[in-house]
Amino acid sequence: MQNYPISKSRMASLVSHPDEVKVVSRRFGQGATDIDRYLELDGYRAVQKALGMEADAIINEVKNSGLRGRGGAGFSTGMKWSFVPKQSAKPKYVLCNGDESEPGTCKDRLIFEHDPHSVIEGVMIGGLAVGARSGYIYIRGEYRYLSIIMQKAIRDAYTKGFLGKNIFGSGRDFDVYWHGGAGAYEVGEESALMESLEGKRGIPRIRPPFPAVVGLWGGPTVINNAETLASVPPIILGGAEWFAKLGPPKNGGTRLFCLSGNVAKPGVYELPMGYNLKKMIYEVGGGIPNGRQLKAVVPGGASCPCLTADEVDVNMDFDSVAKAGSMLGSGGVVVIDDAQCIVKFALRTMKFYQHESCGWCIPCREGTDWLKKTLVRFHAGGGVKKDIDNMQYLSENMLGRTFCPLGDAAAMPTIAFVKKFRKEFEDHLEGRPCPFELEGAREQMPVMAH
Ligand code: SF4
Repeated sequence: MQNYPISKSRMASLVSHPDEVKVVSRRFGQGATDIDRYLELDGYRAVQKALGMEADAIINEVKNSGLRGRGGAGFSTGMKWSFVPKQSAKPKYVLCNGDESEPGTCKDRLIFEHDPHSVIEGVMIGGLAVGARSGYIYIRGEYRYLSIIMQKAIRDAYTKGFLGKNIFGSGRDFDVYWHGGAGAYEVGEESALMESLEGKRGIPRIRPPFPAVVGLWGGPTVINNAETLASVPPIILGGAEWFAKLGPPKNGGTRLFCLSGNVAKPGVYELPMGYNLKKMIYEVGGGIPNGRQLKAVVPGGASCPCLTADEVDVNMDFDSVAKAGSMLGSGGVVVIDDAQCIVKFALRTMKFYQHESCGWCIPCREGTDWLKKTLVRFHAGGGVKKDIDNMQYLSENMLGRTFCPLGDAAAMPTIAFVKKFRKEFEDHLEGRPCPFELEGAREQMPVMAH
């Protein structure tokens, strides 16, 4: 790959707040892309400790830490690792899912940019836990400059002898490879990512069999998000109990929350799991600018149902947000103020999913297209009353009827927008143009980082 200089404007700026607990982000801004600096900052100590542990002990430590997948699903990482069979005729693999593409989410980007070795170390520890001898770090195609950083980090780790044959004199071998995506959101789905890595079109596989048993090139495979893997070295060094206590029960650790949209201080903040959403918006994010009021929040990336202003007094852990009727998802918190049109927001969200649908299954391919067309017409003032129920009906009929979660990801926010903001949809009816644009409200929608 071409080795071009990375312009400063492409590097994400760092923000901070006193409530932050820096675990995954502790090396951000510390020059840790340099392997010697990484070593000064406790780098590669966790993997050396893990080399002296039994595989089951590593898995139990991660299980007891309460670490749950940071990519969106929130499944127990230790549990996922325990599903990989001990014996296998085929090689086993560890995959890092760095195909971060969910609108509103930009946390893995910071990890790759500031602390790439922590991901390599997480992949290595995952490999020791499941008995794999190689791992892949798959990075989103649009993150080209981050791929350059990661490729250098991998090269440096080989040069130091931390990767390859006889790692740290342990008699064990471990290889790590970088792989770049081609710019498809769909490839963030784990089985589509494996197809892509194998050089095929990135569409999902039918399951079962699940990747833990039949994954990459048919071998048992664990696949974890980059933030999940970067959380593993601190767990090995600090212990499961310490990590678990950072968050509420069954939701261990911290989370990189990507705060964007209509907030005074947008940015990526590392806060303990279970941090209150209202506090996050008004204290960490500095509240809603320009004297506007909060209208809604998308709490975990574009695929999550929105919460209204009355519903934001919720703790940001997987279980509490689910209880509130949404999902913690990928940590992308998008704040929407009262100058924004929800119909336009729903349209923007649907345009994304319609564009990214891989087209393999009909409810998603046709459903997203119909919903987008209806929303375009509706927002332009060409809507009729029946459209509102039709959008809801169509979305509900996509749920659970597609090969991969993209169909649900498109349907769930639409259902919530229609249900919670029906009046706003009705205000667009019968030839009336968007009332928000009539009022001279901002043309610009909240900026979702992605
Ligand atoms: Fe493709 Fe959508 Fe079906 Fe997923 S749900 S397989 S993205 S068409």
